[in-house]
Formats: sequence, C-alpha cells, structure tokens
Amino acid sequence: MVHAAELIRRKRDGEKLAADQLAELVLAYARGDVPDYQMAAFCMAVFFRGLDREETFALTDAMIRSGETIDLGAAIGRKVVDKHSTGGVGDKTSLAVGPIVAACGVPFGKMSGRGLGHTGGTLDKLESIPGFRVELTTEQFLTQVRDVGLAIIGQSADLVPADKLLYGLRDVTATVDNVSLIAASIMSKKIAAGADAIVLDVKVGDGAFMKTLEDARELAHAMLELGRHAGREVACVLTDMDQPLGHAVGNALEIREAIETLRGEGPADFTELVLSACAHLLAFSDLGVDEAAGRERARAAVQDGSALAIYERWIAAQGGDPAEEALPTAPVVREVTAPRDGFVRAIGAIDVGMAALRLGAGRRTKDEAIDHAVGVRCLKKRGDAVAPGEPVAEVHGRDEASTEQACGEVLAAYTFGDAAPAATPIVLGTIS
Ligand code: URA
Repeated sequence: MVHAAELIRRKRDGEKLAADQLAELVLAYARGDVPDYQMAAFCMAVFFRGLDREETFALTDAMIRSGETIDLGAAIGRKVVDKHSTGGVGDKTSLAVGPIVAACGVPFGKMSGRGLGHTGGTLDKLESIPGFRVELTTEQFLTQVRDVGLAIIGQSADLVPADKLLYGLRDVTATVDNVSLIAASIMSKKIAAGADAIVLDVKVGDGAFMKTLEDARELAHAMLELGRHAGREVACVLTDMDQPLGHAVGNALEIREAIETLRGEGPADFTELVLSACAHLLAFSDLGVDEAAGRERARAAVQDGSALAIYERWIAAQGGDPAEEALPTAPVVREVTAPRDGFVRAIGAIDVGMAALRLGAGRRTKDEAIDHAVGVRCLKKRGDAVAPGEPVAEVHGRDEASTEQACGEVLAAYTFGDAAPAATPIVLGTIS
C-alpha cells in the first residue's frame, strides 16, 4: 500500500523520493487507488520543490509502465522518426512535416494530442477535414504507416494512461508549467509510442509554456536526457513563439496553410521551421543523409509535388476529403486594419490564441465542442511595414458579434512603432 500523504509530506519538505516510491505513487494513481486530491497536492509539492534528474527518470519510467508500449521500428521494419512540439499558437508543423518526410521515403507515424487553453492540438486541426478519423487501432495505424508512409492518430488510451490523468489534473491545478513534469509528460508518450529518433520543437516566448530561452534550454536538456536514457536519439530545436507561427490560427485555416506550404506557397517563418524540422528528421532516418542533404530533399519533395501527393493519400487513407474546397469556411470574415503607419513591432501570441479560442477555435473546458471554421489570420507579422487602414489581420467568425469582439482583441494584440524591431529568426537554436 502506498502512503500517499507521507510521500506528499516528504516532497513538500524538499526530500528526495526513491524511484520505487515514485513508481508506487504513479502506478497507484493510474489504477485509481490514489485520489485526485492527493495527486494534485503531490504535483503542487513538485511544482515548488522540483524533481532532480533521478526522480524525473523514475517518474517518466513509471508513467511509461502505467500502460502499453509500441516498438514501432520492429513493427515497420525500418527506423522510425517522430516529432513533437511543446505547444504554441498557429503550430501546424506536423501537418506539413509528416507528408514531406514520408515523401522522402521515411515512415512517419505519430500520435498527437488535442488543444487546451490558447494552444491548438493537431487532432483538432485534422478533424476539420470532413470524414477524417483520428481513432485507428494500433494495427490499422501500423498498416497505414507501412502502406502510405504516414499516419497521425490520437494518443491511444492504452499508452501512458497515467499521463492522461495527470495532465488533466495539472491543467486545472496550476501545475502544468514545471520542467520535470512537462519533460516526463512529453517524453513518456514519445518513448511509449516507440519511435527510434525524436525531434522536439521547444517553443519559447509569450505563446509558449516556456517564456524564456533559459527555461526552454532547461526543458530541452531534461527531455534530451530522458530520451537518451531510454536509448532514443533526440534533437531539440528551440523556436520563437513570441508571435503566432505563420499566418493562420484556427483549425481549418491552419489545414489550408499547411496545404499551401506543401505547395511551396507557405509563410516564410513556417516554411523555414518545417524545412528545419524535416532536415533533422531525415538526418536521423536510415536514409544516410546529413542535415544539409535532408533539407535539400525536403525542399525537392515540395517542389516536385510529391509531398502534396502524399498528403492527399494520407488524408484519404484516414477517411478524409483532401480537397481544400471541402474544408469548412466561416460565415463572417472581417479585416483588422492598421490604425497608423509604421511597423509591426510585436504580436502577442497568447492574445491572438485567446481571441481564436473565444471565437470557438479552442476549448475552455475539456469537453467543449470546437468550431473548426473560425480563427484568425495574421496577415502582417513582426517587422512588416504598414500603412494606415491597411489590413493587418483577418477574423473568421461564426456571427457578427463574436467577430467584432475578436477584431478588437486582435488589434489590441498588435503593437505598432516607427521603426522595425530587430529581426528574430524562427529557429533560435538547436540542442542535440
Ligand atoms: N505537452 C504535454 O504533452 N505535456 C505537458 O506537460 C506539456 C505540454
């Protein structure tokens, strides 16, 4: 029998917990033998006292042991690569990266999550495609990765059930943004899902969990260690989330932008991030190429149309209609215009994310339905020159009132000035 109250007290008082104690607690929680209120108190104790390296390893191992694991490489007969983002605004990277990597001949099988709060989730974006199914059995998932080269599905309930419970609990007890807890949550899922090599996109800035480069580096190092401990190759790309990624924020709008990017017509920052992630993934793959060659192959797959062709096969394989015209559109579209001339100095990513959420693009509670058609397009990005009355953004809404309100919120997210701010690259650094 686990003595949860005693473990909470020890962590509260700053003591180090033994691996077997942590494992006992996590596994008992996953079985339903430790109630939410004790686990919430434990998470808060961890939030204030932290977990050291060994404790973080032990927590991650226990979370993995709470459910099934998949050996993707053995099942596919190839080295399998995966990517994960720590979450941001307008982050549709996997939707473009998956088809490009698969078009380069590298199998890409990914389990994704849903959005909560101001950050969007890949599954919600995919569900804006009519007919698209995110729930496949593990067997169907593996068959599709083998046959099409690409599948993105919902996290199986059998994989890391402890994280499913813990993440929901952390989300409502203000205990999400702790490095050890985030690292264990992300890496337990990535390790259990079975890829041999993982590229982690660690978002930094206003719209990310990690607000500073220092915190993002700490998270990156923690995840690298966990990956290596489990025998996986890992690289972390630290990327800018001080403004929304690309133009589109909102589910169907982001699918459109991913398709445009696969056609070679995507926004510059998003295209650069996609190519950079593909370069890392291809360098990790069994193609035997380095990053520079990987980037060239990724670029070629966009140019020759093979990435777009794989996108269409993938969407159809999961029951969806790949035609852009099939995506839902919002009934009301309004422009947000610049109040003055000058330059865009900043765009609050969290504010744009929250405006999109209030339009209905995200959830305030776990069970809320999503309006896939609505969202925001940030036409002007940081550093762009603007003239008075020029459109800087578009709001796609369900009705006049919510659209008008979002227009005000999006305008308030923009800061204008007389001079362009110093340019910030999308990729701020790589840790591997
Ligand atoms: N994403 C996750 O999967 N877990 C976290 O704790 C934070 C972001």
